[in-house]
Amino acid sequence: MKTVYYIILLLNIFAMAACSNQGEAATTSMPSSTPEVEATELHAFDADSAYSYVKAQVDMGPRVPGTEAHDRCAKYLAQKLEEFGADSIIMQQGTVTAFDGTKLPITNISARFNSAKPDAKSIVLLAHYDTRPWADEDPDPDNRNTPIDGANDGASGVGVLLEVARQIGLERPGVNVEIFFTDAEDYGSSDGMSEDSWCLGTQYYLDSNPYSDGAPAYGVLLDMVGGKGATFYREQFSELYAKPINDKVWAQAKRAGLSSRFVDRIGGAITDDHLHFIKSRIPVIDIIEMNNVATGSFPPYWHTLGDNMDNIDRGTLGDVGSVVTNLIYSEK
Ligand SMILES: [Zn+2]
Repeated sequence: MKTVYYIILLLNIFAMAACSNQGEAATTSMPSSTPEVEATELHAFDADSAYSYVKAQVDMGPRVPGTEAHDRCAKYLAQKLEEFGADSIIMQQGTVTAFDGTKLPITNISARFNSAKPDAKSIVLLAHYDTRPWADEDPDPDNRNTPIDGANDGASGVGVLLEVARQIGLERPGVNVEIFFTDAEDYGSSDGMSEDSWCLGTQYYLDSNPYSDGAPAYGVLLDMVGGKGATFYREQFSELYAKPINDKVWAQAKRAGLSSRFVDRIGGAITDDHLHFIKSRIPVIDIIEMNNVATGSFPPYWHTLGDNMDNIDRGTLGDVGSVVTNLIYSEK
């Protein structure tokens, strides 16, 4: 991903509708009201385990669609999901056409973990596992055609969700959970004009009508969730189209004492996989690092060769994983 927009006009309209104090509402980062959640015990999440899953992916090399490392990673992810007790795993294979005409062989991976309850609602948790084929933001022009490790942009979200899946395997929550590892998210054009050139795997998946047996009640996308010092703000499309889910997530963060990591304010608007779910009328939010202290936006190593294990922090993975895990176990 992609573009960070600041939809000031749109947000002001939204903020004024949502807030009784219109003077205070006329900013892009109004504080949001976060509901209290039941103070039950926090569920375990093992950050070291998540870190090991991130490293395992990075150790395979860049996971660019069409490469051997990519296919090896797809098999590894399916094997882990099977090991954690998924009730079904679908490896959806297909071909998509990139913005430059390249035909990309893709594999989307969907694993379902059913709860014991027959009519339980479903929640989808997703992350992309492919990595960008070019370090096109690298400060050194000689590096800009080199594929990136994608430790944060790719492997981090997947690593957290693998550990969430492991926890679900140990103790089923009260809801059905789909873990969706999507492909070809990061093969997009950086010309700023071709937003649909990103998220090709998710577009392919949703076009295939995967929810004929009932759509998920909501979903959470994780993207760039392992950076040192990362902060997460309420992403704007999420806030506009799936605000109750943002409210739930930020309430879990507050309950876990993570309000400095999950800042309860509105950040930028980002083109990412969640937008395609929203277009399919499934409310999905995006938890993604933004407002980095060095850049005011994504971290400085985004789409550079610096997106490697040196910039991954167990603490960030653990905080995000803890919030998502507790969200799942708080659902009845
Ligand atoms: Zn990216």
